[in-house]
Amino acid sequence: MPSLPYQPLRVLFVTSECTPFAMTGGLGDVSSALPIALRSLGVDARVVLPLYQGVDRSRLELLPGTLMVPLGSAHIAARVWRGWLRHGVQVYFIEHDAFFDRPAIYGPNGGAFGDNLVRFAFLSRAVIELPRLLGWTPDVIHANDWQTALAPVYLDTIERNGALARCASLLTIHNIGYQGIFPIEEIGATGLEFLHPRTLEHFGSLNLLKGGLCHSTLLSTVSRSYSREVQTSAFGCGLEGVLRSRTDDLFGILNGIDTEEWDPRTDPFLPAHYGVDSMTGKAECKAALQRNAGLPERPYVPMIGVISRLTHQKGMDVLARTLSRILELDVQIVLLGAGDSDAERFFDEATRTHSDKFRGWVGGFDQRRAHLIEAGCDFLLMPSRYEPCGLNQMYSLRYGTLPIVRATGGLDDTIDNYDERTGEGTGFKFIDLNPSTLYDVIGWAVSTWYDRPHHVRQMQERGMQMDFSWTPAARQYEQVYYAALRRRRQVPSFEAAQAQP
Ligand code: ADP
Repeated sequence: MPSLPYQPLRVLFVTSECTPFAMTGGLGDVSSALPIALRSLGVDARVVLPLYQGVDRSRLELLPGTLMVPLGSAHIAARVWRGWLRHGVQVYFIEHDAFFDRPAIYGPNGGAFGDNLVRFAFLSRAVIELPRLLGWTPDVIHANDWQTALAPVYLDTIERNGALARCASLLTIHNIGYQGIFPIEEIGATGLEFLHPRTLEHFGSLNLLKGGLCHSTLLSTVSRSYSREVQTSAFGCGLEGVLRSRTDDLFGILNGIDTEEWDPRTDPFLPAHYGVDSMTGKAECKAALQRNAGLPERPYVPMIGVISRLTHQKGMDVLARTLSRILELDVQIVLLGAGDSDAERFFDEATRTHSDKFRGWVGGFDQRRAHLIEAGCDFLLMPSRYEPCGLNQMYSLRYGTLPIVRATGGLDDTIDNYDERTGEGTGFKFIDLNPSTLYDVIGWAVSTWYDRPHHVRQMQERGMQMDFSWTPAARQYEQVYYAALRRRRQVPSFEAAQAQP
């Protein structure tokens, strides 16, 4: 590993997903790309996640020693493996097979395992023990979403005066729709039963995310708009009051994308490459995608892609209700996604009933196909009810594929709406989410494709030249880490903060 020539800022990035090891969504992308970008800035960022069944152990090394993780009345043993991301970023895998040697990360068929509370409490508690085994003490623990939200709680309570007394924490909300809610009677599993209910209890339940929001030194979300939205009752999912009470500590930092992995000039998943100066490779990708999907190979038909978890959040129910009407237009639609079983069944059935225009690949996670869809399609649809950041619209811009998005959260922040008088913009936005507006916005995109192809080309060029690299975001995170460190040293605990006038 290349070493840094000075004492760098040390950040332990705690996560339940990290691509390419384990991923179900955008958190996996962020958990590898951000530490890599931080490392490039000179931050000693390291990642920790569970050793899931799907992780290939032959590429990892076992570290000497055993972690003894105190949890409730027990001490649970865990081994630690080490792997690597690009640029020498170290990734630690916490091994405890009884919790993590399972075919899924969170649960079977998009559901949840019954012991997720103890699984992720264990992960969060192991993180607090890990520095002792490594002989490496982080300045900041960066936790992400409910699965690791207990790490800042442990840091601010049990560990307040321990070896990590000077360590600050940042909790990033990637999606406030998932909070880690469990029966309050199960709090014993966390070893935190003595806590004041104000922080971990929410409307009679145990709420891990709320605990993290109260106890983290600072907080962030993954776009500016979402950081404002989560403070409102429409988007805060019940935690808006907690977030409003910490409004000065809450930052909105737009995710970047991994521009090495997502580059149509070099993407190894594509049958042909292309760039803003020569788009012929994109036409080849489109033909390959049509063949792959079993759709007629028609270069000039507008092709719309969807790559999404099939959930209510993503507006997939509205797409389902509108699909047959949209397919009356001269379009082709391909959809890749996994999620709600009703949605999977619906899009599977639609593949049979509209086999000349629609192809759904449901139930699986397929990175190669995701890349081909980004490259081969002309448009990418994201009709999300809410979208903390969204990555696919940024991949699309880079691949010359025009996003059609609902104006919410990160989608609103990253896409400029098309102006058909001037040709300005980078995509098509709509506000109300219902079948009629969805049909209208797709109709607008399709008519632009046929009637104003020069505007389509201009928008493609504009999008392909935009910079969504992680460097600006990593710089902002670095500033927030330093702010958290300063804060931690001034205000050592949640209770002390509450006691301040
Ligand atoms: P979220 O995290 O809410 O699911 P994002 O847009 O932030 O949404 O990130 C989703 C990520 O997961 C993207 O990288 C997308 O390409 C990927 N993805 C989603 N579903 C699939 C799938 N079935 N196969 C491959 N990649 C997928």
